[in-house]
Amino acid sequence: MIKAPVRKIIPHSLVDGPGNRTAIFLQGCNIRCAYCHNPETQEMCTESSPTEEIKWMTAEEVFKEVERDIPFIRGITVSGGECTLYPEFLVELFTLGQKAGLSCLIDSNGTIDLSKYPELIEVCSGVMLDVKAWDNEKFNKLTGGNNRNVLKNLKFLSDLDKLEEIRIVCIPDEVDAEDILKGIKSTIGEKISYTNLKLIKFRNHGVIGRLKEAESPSDEYMNYLKELALELGFKKVKIT
Ligand code: SF4
Repeated sequence: MIKAPVRKIIPHSLVDGPGNRTAIFLQGCNIRCAYCHNPETQEMCTESSPTEEIKWMTAEEVFKEVERDIPFIRGITVSGGECTLYPEFLVELFTLGQKAGLSCLIDSNGTIDLSKYPELIEVCSGVMLDVKAWDNEKFNKLTGGNNRNVLKNLKFLSDLDKLEEIRIVCIPDEVDAEDILKGIKSTIGEKISYTNLKLIKFRNHGVIGRLKEAESPSDEYMNYLKELALELGFKKVKIT
């Protein structure tokens, strides 16, 4: 049985997708965002070097924990770190979830090419995709990574109607949110009218990276971005 490193399971979450959901957080991330709020989830780990906080679990073991809450939840969301680093585990977990009638969502930084995992896409109800920058140089400055797959996944998931939500963390001078919004429009076109967009106001608590002292954007700036998104054709825009 395939195992994955589980950092945390929150039985009832109202902030990890629609409705009440069980949220499962896997350890390990392949990029390093300067604004990461969960830096403790970044380090990759191996089964042979267990820690107190991380438990290697099979999909069946995780699902046993989910099962007792089935009467109270709409679905499960797997987050991280970056959960798509463990695609086979996700396939097994989501297969169990789907059989139980749960919606199964992924929360992802989008840097793994999801078109290479058709079995995962088949059992996954949708992906909540972070778009952290449109320009690759800006993405690299912010995360140390490459956004080629993020943009590819955006189109791929949108074409399949598996784009549950797009998320943008907003930090003036660091994240060119206008550029991102226009880039999304030019890539998925009219589909933006039924794609959920979450504009996340940066807050520095928990941040230990380069932006640990950066200030939150003003409400005026967030409202300006929301207006821009609506002008471009988004209809479901939330500021959080
Ligand atoms: S993708 Fe998420 S977990 Fe990984 S570094 Fe960025 S914010 Fe942190």
